[in-house]
Amino acid sequence: MGSPCVFVRLAGCPLRCHYCDTEYAFREGTARPISDVVRETLAFGCPLVEVTGGEPLAQSGVHELIGALADAGCTVLIETSGALDISPCDPRAIRILDLKTPGSGESARNLWSNLDHLHERDEIKFVITDRADYEWAKEMMTEHRLTERVRAVFMSPVFEQAKGLEIRGTKALEPRLLAEWMLADRLPARLQLQLHKFIWNPGTRGV
Ligand code: SF4
Repeated sequence: MGSPCVFVRLAGCPLRCHYCDTEYAFREGTARPISDVVRETLAFGCPLVEVTGGEPLAQSGVHELIGALADAGCTVLIETSGALDISPCDPRAIRILDLKTPGSGESARNLWSNLDHLHERDEIKFVITDRADYEWAKEMMTEHRLTERVRAVFMSPVFEQAKGLEIRGTKALEPRLLAEWMLADRLPARLQLQLHKFIWNPGTRGV
């Protein structure tokens, strides 16, 4: 968090999390040659690139794209919902695996076999909507020994999201509350804020 990073946002997602802040990715986007996307990405002159969505792994060309970016010397992060198989991902990429909490409305979509394909450079993220999500995330950390599998486990308080065309919307969870819960439990996890939403208007795109 805090490092400049180019986001390559791929369209489409099979999930409908209540708090989704990229609903536009369900419908927008144009088909483009991978070479064009790589050229445009490299033109930013920033070696850190995140391939995200939507759900990036839902696109058949994603692995070719990741490989091309890694070949070009980029550090590639893949942010994925955790609902699709991560095992075909280029091992040079760092996977950020979202484990969907009950408050997302999509926890039944977690593909638990993904945990066996994680590398120690990868990361796990929980978006926390309330105390019940927090308790669930703690249980999952213990049950699946998550801190032994990856370099970091993140807890991210959900940001307020208005109801959309396809998503229910959600109230925000105050970051202070989540921070206090984590401190009280001495939880071996890191607090993550969506920094761009504190710097720019939360609805601003392209930042
Ligand atoms: S996984 Fe959930 S939050 Fe992510 S793009 Fe899909 S619906 Fe939105």
